[in-house]
Amino acid sequence: METCSPFIEVNEAIREMGGEDLNNCMQCGLCTGSCPWRLVDGDFSVRQMIRLAQLGLEGYESDDVLYGCTTCGVCVQRCPREVAIIDIMRSVRSMIMETGAIPKPLQAVVGSIHSNRNPWGEDAEKRVAWQKELEVPVFDGTQEYFLFVCCTSAYDRRSQQIARSMVKILRAVGVSFGIIGNEESCCGESVRKIGAEEAFQTLAAKNLGLWGEKGVQKIITTSPHCFYTIREEYPGEDSPVQVQHYTQVLASLLAEGRIALEEPIEAMVTYHDPCYLGRHSGVYDPPRSLLTSIPGVEFVEMDRNRENSLCCGGGGGRVWMETKAEQRFSDLRIQEALDAGARILATACPYCITMLEDSRKTTGAEDKIEVLDVSEIVVRAMGL
Ligand code: SF4
Repeated sequence: METCSPFIEVNEAIREMGGEDLNNCMQCGLCTGSCPWRLVDGDFSVRQMIRLAQLGLEGYESDDVLYGCTTCGVCVQRCPREVAIIDIMRSVRSMIMETGAIPKPLQAVVGSIHSNRNPWGEDAEKRVAWQKELEVPVFDGTQEYFLFVCCTSAYDRRSQQIARSMVKILRAVGVSFGIIGNEESCCGESVRKIGAEEAFQTLAAKNLGLWGEKGVQKIITTSPHCFYTIREEYPGEDSPVQVQHYTQVLASLLAEGRIALEEPIEAMVTYHDPCYLGRHSGVYDPPRSLLTSIPGVEFVEMDRNRENSLCCGGGGGRVWMETKAEQRFSDLRIQEALDAGARILATACPYCITMLEDSRKTTGAEDKIEVLDVSEIVVRAMGL
């Protein structure tokens, strides 16, 4: 009787779970050559990860092979076979998730999603504590926008400034908006990327149900990760929900003459494209149009910009994992901003803010450069 190798079965399962392109890979290695890990001499290799998957995970030993990927998407742009590398990585991680053998920090993330509806181990009942005295209106279906504050901006003290900045701006401009409250849940982007597919599907269904019940039609997100996931990964092609990243909304308001950026900021400013806003979503100009409209700003690009932007290192679950000091992409990015002559490094993503702020401190650049979200810079330029 013929028996099927367990490794062939695993190869088939990876393809069935979303990694359809797996066997299209010809092992040319262009992906590895373009991966930011090559800049820091790390152990992670995209080509090796794909080969391991092709061989049905035969010889899988180290988390470094599977959990190094930040899902930045550079390799996907370069692959001559157009292999959907991130989908393969996600599919493989889903299989590891089923065995329970995922890295410990990620186990905590998945556990927190189940018990708190956020990945940070924070109390679900304190989700909107970020608003403090701002008294943001509760979304009741009469406002134009639901402001969807990502989990990081809801709970992380530094990142809360993004949510608070958005409230100040939208209020000053007279845009009608609201938040739902503590019933809100994580969009599920990161847990999907670390392989918790079932948890992601549960969150997506829960969010779509809540938004439908509340009459949400238009969403502004504070995070490119939420923006991408709701737009590209939530089920239902005919979803009644339109989603925009906040930089798109603010750039439109600026173009309509509804935002006045009149307070000068006398500084050289550069912009770090977050992977999920830039490469994954193609949104490059709105943040730049906001920054370059501020009087006094001398805008300068870093060598790596737009589709060639360097990942901050926080995507794909890496924001929760320890990265050796000499392997942090965000350290390189701080240096690239300094090399460009910038005094302000702007970005538009809570993960990027977290990673770049850490690197600013640990590399001793605190007196040399500020790391600010575009929303925070707009608040300054509006004099709010
Ligand atoms: Fe395979 Fe594409 Fe990487 Fe080449 S670039 S090794 S074809 S995934």
